[in-house]
Amino acid sequence: MLGDGPPRVSGHLAYRAMLPQASLPGPLRSQQVTAWLGPKLHAVQYPVRGGEWLNLVVIVQGPAPHDLQNWDHQANGADLQAATQLLCAPLCRLIDAVTASASPARPAWRLWPLCDRPPISGARQQAQGRVALLGDAAHPMRPYLAQGAGMAIEDAAALGSVLAQQRDPAFDVPALLQRYALNRWQRNAQVQARSERNGQLFHAQGPLRWGRDAGMKLLGEKVMDLPWLYGYGA
Ligand SMILES: Cc1cc2nc3c(=O)[nH]c(=O)nc-3n(C[C@H](O)[C@H](O)[C@H](O)COP(=O)(O)OP(=O)(O)OC[C@H]3O[C@@H](n4cnc5c(N)ncnc54)[C@H](O)[C@@H]3O)c2cc1C
Repeated sequence: MLGDGPPRVSGHLAYRAMLPQASLPGPLRSQQVTAWLGPKLHAVQYPVRGGEWLNLVVIVQGPAPHDLQNWDHQANGADLQAATQLLCAPLCRLIDAVTASASPARPAWRLWPLCDRPPISGARQQAQGRVALLGDAAHPMRPYLAQGAGMAIEDAAALGSVLAQQRDPAFDVPALLQRYALNRWQRNAQVQARSERNGQLFHAQGPLRWGRDAGMKLLGEKVMDLPWLYGYGA
């Protein structure tokens, strides 16, 4: 619809694992959401399925597999171990334990090359004529603000609300879709841009890294307080 060519290859690779916590040594089990930040990489772990399973995502930088149509690839745990061997001991232990938990029936890691597009620049990228785009189809973003699905849900609510406002059975579909697009595109562009910036901060090296760490120390949990994002529509 937009003729905007293939998506942008970010150079970031997400290694993903989900496994029963019981298969990990006791000290590595966790009921907390934990983010680890390091040079050119970061990792996020959190409990799922009522705390019985652990989800772990380790994002490193490197060349993407050639086949980008297929986004879910078999991963080699040894490649990840090599890319993360200089990290702090607790995270290395977790990655090693997850890698060791693999069996022929259940490989430990899946590899997702991450792609995105630059932030959208106008309402035409969300609706044209009788066609409207929602979610990743309109505004794929890096997962560093954890908002891709959130924005898809907000798009759906906004579209539903615009369509519910029409009373005339012969309503003007393109005009309604245009209103939806005008309501949504700037917010989606802002979240896309902030997600990309978060990735740069997460993977920072040198002075930017010191600044980031000092800011986190100073602000503590307030660093996650983003009223423009979480207070939207309240
Ligand atoms: C590592 C990672 C972590 C993430 N973490 C978070 C998070 O914590 N929070 C968050 O909000 N978001 C997160 N996201 C982003 C989130 O997963 C996506 O933004 C969200 O899934 C987009 O939803 P969607 O419905 O727009 O697209 P999709 O989920 O891609 O759904 C599109 C569907 O359409 C189907 N489809 C495609 N073509 C056709 C066709 N021709 N006919 C029929 N069906 C078709 C596809 O198979 C797919 O099921 C993360 C993403 C990644 C990669």
